Parts: sequence; C-alpha cells; structure tokens
Amino acid sequence: MKVQEVLSDLKRRFPNEPEYLQAVTEVLESIEEVYNEHPEFEKENLIERLCIPDRIFTFRVTWIDDKGKVNVNMGYRIQHSNVIGPYKGGIRFHESVNPSILKFLAFEQTFKNALTTLPMGGGKGGSDFSPRGKSKTEVMRFCQAFMHELWKYIGSETDVPAGDIGVGGREIGYMFGQYKKLQGEFTGVLTGKGLEFGGSLIRPEATGYGNIYFLLEMLKTRGIDIAGKKCLVSGSGNVAQYTCDKLIQLGAIPVTLSDSDGYIYDPDGITREKLDYVMELKNIDRGRIREYAETYGCKYVPGGHVWSESGDIALPSATQNEIDGDDARHLVETGVIAVSEGANMPSTPEAIEVFQKAKILYAPGKAANAGGVATSGLEMTQNSIRLSWSRDEVDSKLKEIMKDIHRQCVKYGAQPDGTIDYVKGANIAGFMKVAKAIMAQGIL
Ligand code: NDP
Repeated sequence: MKVQEVLSDLKRRFPNEPEYLQAVTEVLESIEEVYNEHPEFEKENLIERLCIPDRIFTFRVTWIDDKGKVNVNMGYRIQHSNVIGPYKGGIRFHESVNPSILKFLAFEQTFKNALTTLPMGGGKGGSDFSPRGKSKTEVMRFCQAFMHELWKYIGSETDVPAGDIGVGGREIGYMFGQYKKLQGEFTGVLTGKGLEFGGSLIRPEATGYGNIYFLLEMLKTRGIDIAGKKCLVSGSGNVAQYTCDKLIQLGAIPVTLSDSDGYIYDPDGITREKLDYVMELKNIDRGRIREYAETYGCKYVPGGHVWSESGDIALPSATQNEIDGDDARHLVETGVIAVSEGANMPSTPEAIEVFQKAKILYAPGKAANAGGVATSGLEMTQNSIRLSWSRDEVDSKLKEIMKDIHRQCVKYGAQPDGTIDYVKGANIAGFMKVAKAIMAQGIL
C-alpha cells in the first residue's frame, strides 16, 4: 500500500469530509509498515474495505416544537464494520453533526472497539438537532421522531447505539421507549439505559473513569504519582464530570471546565461539593458553566479555551479538534507532562506532532476513552444473560480492560528510545484484529 495514493484517492472521492480524511490519514500513516509486511492484505484490497463504511443511512426527522411549529432535522446512522461483532457506537445530537463527523467517529470506533477485546463492531449516528435550549417535551418528541426512522436499522444482534454529545440517559430513555413500542420487544438495543430498565452500574462513569485508569498506567511507566497534580479538563458533560470525579478521588486537582460558551478556572480546585453543583447545574438544570464562576467567585473566560491555562495534565473531554498546534505548544512550554483524550480526536494533527516531539505522555482517544464503549459491551452482556453485576464487579472489569488496552499499546508502540508511541500502538493493535477478521470472513 502506498498511503499517499490511497489518501489522494479518498480525498478525490470525499472532498467535503475533512474530519473523516483526518482520522483515516492518522490511522493509515501509522499502520503502513505493518500492512506492507502482509502482502495478502493488499491482494484483497483490505485498505479500501476498511476505510469505506459498510453502509450509511440518511433520513429526515420531522417533529413539532412547543409552539406548534414543524421542524425538520437530518438523521444518520453509519454502520462501519461488523466483522468482530454487531455495529456499536454512540448517537450524537449537536448542530455541527454532518456525514464527515459521523464517518470519522464510526471509523475510529471500529478500532477502539477492537481494542476493548469485546465482540463489538463499529458504527455511529446522530442528528444536527441540538437539545440545548429545548424543553423536555421537545427533546422527547424529537427522540421519538428520530427513533421512528432509526428502529428498522438497529437491533440487539445487528446494531446497538449508545449516547454521545447531546445524548445522555434522558435521551436514551426516550429512544428506548419508542423502539420498544415500534418493535414490540424488550431487548438490549441501546446501551446507557437507566438502571431500572437494563442499564449497567458504572456506565455513566465509564468513559471518564476509564480515561483516568489509562492515564494511571501511562504515569506508572515514568514513576509519576497523580496525587497533587493540577489538571486541565475541558467540557462539562458526561465525560468531563466523571473525569473530575475520579481525579478528586485520587487526590489530583481539576482546575478547569468549559462549555461551548467559555471556560472557568478555579485555582482552589474543583472539590467534591463543587462537582456535585456542576452535575446538578448541567444534568438537571441544564445551565451554563458561567454560573459556576458566579457561584464560587472564580475566573470565567467567555469564548475562551481551557488550553490557554497551564497544568500538569490535560484531559480534553469536549469535542474534536479542540487543541490546535498553538495550544499544544503552550501546554508543552508551560510544563504539561501528560495528555489523555476523553473526547474523540480532540487534538489536531499538528498538536499531536508537538506532543510527540516533546516526548510527553500522549494517549489518543481511541485508547484512552475506550472505557465507555467497553462498559457498554458489559451492559450488552448483562442484558443477554438477564443479570446485573455489582458496581465493584463492573468497575474492576473496566480497570482490567483499560490495563489491557495499555498493554496492547506498549506491545505495538514501544520505541527504541524506551518511550511508547500510543498512537501507533493503538492503531496497529486495533487494525491487526479487524484485518484478521476481515480476511477470515472472505471477500464481501
Ligand atoms: P456531553 O454532551 O455530555 O458533553 C459535551 C461537552 O462538550 C459539553 O460541555 C459541551 O458544551 C461541550 N461541547 C460539545 N461540543 C462542543 C463544541 N463544538 N465546542 C465547544 N464545546 C463543545 O458529551 P460527552 O461528555 O458524552 O462527550 C464528550 C466527548 O467525549 C465527545 O468527543 C464524545 O465523542 C467523547 N466520548 C464520549 C463517550 C461517552 O461515553 N459519553 C465515550 C467516548 C468518547 P455545550 O453544553 O455548550 O454544548
């Protein structure tokens, strides 16, 4: 395979999909060497079969708001690959959602799910609908209208969606109710469900906790203790909240949070009590992070990014491409020792290059945030066997999975100078598993 040839062909065919091309470029560049050691892959054009999703569903979602106005949004489901299990990946509701973003997420998800070692393929879906500023009944009507279209393409053995940006427990509940009504079946077709109807303990915490478990493994390679470390966290949704939760448990000091309007910097640290406030503000009152600064009297920067502050550890937990080259240089110059990605693809290619050149610990989301989908996999298992595991049982399985992902990264990403290239390690480990499964199943 000549990576540049494959990439220029994909650029010609999908010129308006920058995020998808960015994700594919990162993976292809890091697997090129291994791929070329297997001529049988090239003979069966494995690379194109891996980059192009199995299928993409696009649909119109029509719903009525509280004023009686009829609204129209786009809906999508990308089924990328089911070679190692049913399609699996979240649903995103955000105004920025488009096919490029969902294709990048579904592509990444395929490798991430392979890394978890659980039997899950890759997929992603969503809509350009944003729950922000909508009433509860509007969100419910939208979720029902969205599922009215989606239900025919999903199922507990075919495609199992979950949450992502803009889709939390509330939205999953509404979508699950509608699926059940349409299909007439109570099955584990969605993960991230409420505990009362098939959800798993630790699923809400899993992505944030998993990221910190992965970070601990990275810090261990350099003998660094997390206690007392000043941590920059972006976002203030599900992933950011449980990242802070675990940091506080371990004696680290989260000092920032953000939303799409701006960020807060609290030099005294976000304590347990302050985090409880954030959870109520964001999950119940659906408020803005600015209100934290008003309540606790700390700095709020409208329109700013947390990456202009300095800290020991950076934990991006909002969205893609939120750390650019300048942010990365600033973080490195001000002494960051580790960056572990809770969000998907939050660092631009230039930022990644800066982190890798500086030889700081850098974990891509594909590895570091895989705890969310891994615990979704555990939720699927519990649904299948019709049992619920205890909090400790799920948490210890999550820890083990994150340690195992770290081991796989070390196996494929260890460098001659003793450092670990986690990007290469995660990409090669995920790729080899998916590639072998594709080869074994014939040309389809
Ligand atoms: P939430 O919707 O719960 O929170 C997202 C947070 O990020 C909010 O604070 C939101 O602010 C902010 N945000 C979203 N988009 C933007 C944007 N374009 N610019 C600035 N801020 C933005 O989502 P999650 O916490 O679930 O997801 C966060 C990230 O983690 C995403 O990249 C997601 O793909 C990834 N992830 C999530 C998993 C999960 O289990 N939930 C699993 C693995 C990865 P506002 O409220 O203003 O929109």
